[in-house]
Amino acid sequence: MRYVSTRDDTARASGAQAIVSGLAPDGGLYFPEHMPRFAPEGLAALLTADYPTRAAHILAQWLTDFALPDLLGMCRAAYAGFDLPVKALGDGLHALELFHGPTLAFKDVALQLLPHLLKASGEFVGESRDILILVATSGDTGKAALEGFADVPGVSICVFYPEGGVSEAQRLQMVTQTGDNTRVVAVRGNFDDAQTGVKKIFTDPAIAALLDERGVVLSSANSINLGRLLPQIAYYCSAYLDMVKAGSVAMGDEINICVPTGNFGNILAAHFAREMGLPVHTLVCASNVNNVLTDFMRTGVYDRNRAFHLTTSPSMDILISSNLERLLFELSDRDDGQVRGFMAALSSTGQYRLTGAALERLQAGFWAGFADEQAVADEIKQTFAAQNYLIDPHTAVAFRIARDYRAATGDARPMLVTATASPYKFGRAVLEALAGAAVGDDFACCDQLAALSGQQTPEAIAALKTRPVRHRAICDIADMWGAIEPIWGQNS
Ligand SMILES: *Cc1c(COP(=O)(O)O)cnc(C)c1O
Repeated sequence: MRYVSTRDDTARASGAQAIVSGLAPDGGLYFPEHMPRFAPEGLAALLTADYPTRAAHILAQWLTDFALPDLLGMCRAAYAGFDLPVKALGDGLHALELFHGPTLAFKDVALQLLPHLLKASGEFVGESRDILILVATSGDTGKAALEGFADVPGVSICVFYPEGGVSEAQRLQMVTQTGDNTRVVAVRGNFDDAQTGVKKIFTDPAIAALLDERGVVLSSANSINLGRLLPQIAYYCSAYLDMVKAGSVAMGDEINICVPTGNFGNILAAHFAREMGLPVHTLVCASNVNNVLTDFMRTGVYDRNRAFHLTTSPSMDILISSNLERLLFELSDRDDGQVRGFMAALSSTGQYRLTGAALERLQAGFWAGFADEQAVADEIKQTFAAQNYLIDPHTAVAFRIARDYRAATGDARPMLVTATASPYKFGRAVLEALAGAAVGDDFACCDQLAALSGQQTPEAIAALKTRPVRHRAICDIADMWGAIEPIWGQNS
């Protein structure tokens, strides 16, 4: 299996090469030359397997550089003690809980595995330089990547997050990160600024040359990296199998999946699972008031020229959804010229328009909606009251839009809703939604939440209270390279 760039389909890379590079040299994203498909009975054969086995079999179809036993070893190491339960909530609604990893968000599923994949990929392609991973985060990727890569030999990691644009728990998780190879920098800007800044560093040949002299090569842990996307395909397949086992759906019958969406990585993974042959009817794309994707899916016009809103679901406060580029490539019949045109228009005028058959194909497979802040708070309250189920604001966006979809279409297929973060990562917002007001700091909010729900504040949150802050750097958007250059760009 080889991968092409969405901006140049004559460029070819192996899976290992794509994982090491992160981004294609032309700034495009790697896309499979052919979409792998489940062999007949291939999915059913995994019904009784455990999660690492299911994940390894699915990854093996995408990463043909590696032998199945090697992938299995990596998955076992990454997912030991990692639970990914599907909870049936009645009325055909199911929650896929992806937040039981070390940093309490779904990003852990990919980022616990990525260090293993990156190490094996580096060896496979004969990369002898040290790897410097740059991450732009809207809150959860940063911590999950830091946790995955802290003290991994031969790798350093630098995370940029938007100052004031993440929750208090998210910020504390990052700035208290240990590990000599970690660095965390606040950026005076929003997530889109940070993401654009990182991409700029990536595609700057002068920086690449400078780093090369120092024996360093850049890579990415954002969902633009194939190594982030592929592990996410596995949990959709696995969740379906769990639903079959629980009798929620008959093997082969279709479900719908609703995903709270920001950078379009998680929902794209669900789409890839569907393309592999997973029986999924509609993918419901749920946004907060930063609803650029809702408009795009309804009209074909992608227009980022709009106000940027800070919300209680900060990991979805995004107006430039990077991974959409991969879907555009597919929808345009792998027309790299058209994708280049879309992306050039996006960066010069801030918009582009999808039309004709490509738009029809998009709308045949996806349905989109958005929830404003009041709807999110209502959903948290209602889901707790009706189902005794506590959800975080991102997950609440998805539940709300899943209900909207069902009401609008009458489609009663079983609905799998992706629960992307622990409510305790956003304790203040969740408590405000439930109790109408929140007093005290975020830790006090979590304790009140725990008392209300009869649960306990997860240790990963409670422990932040006493952890020393290790990272205080802050920089302007224009100076992101300047913030890290003294460490990695020069001889020290
Ligand atoms: C990252 C994140 C999202 C959005 O996922 P994308 O892959 O960027 O679309 C949603 N919810 C939470 C909690 C997240 O951390």
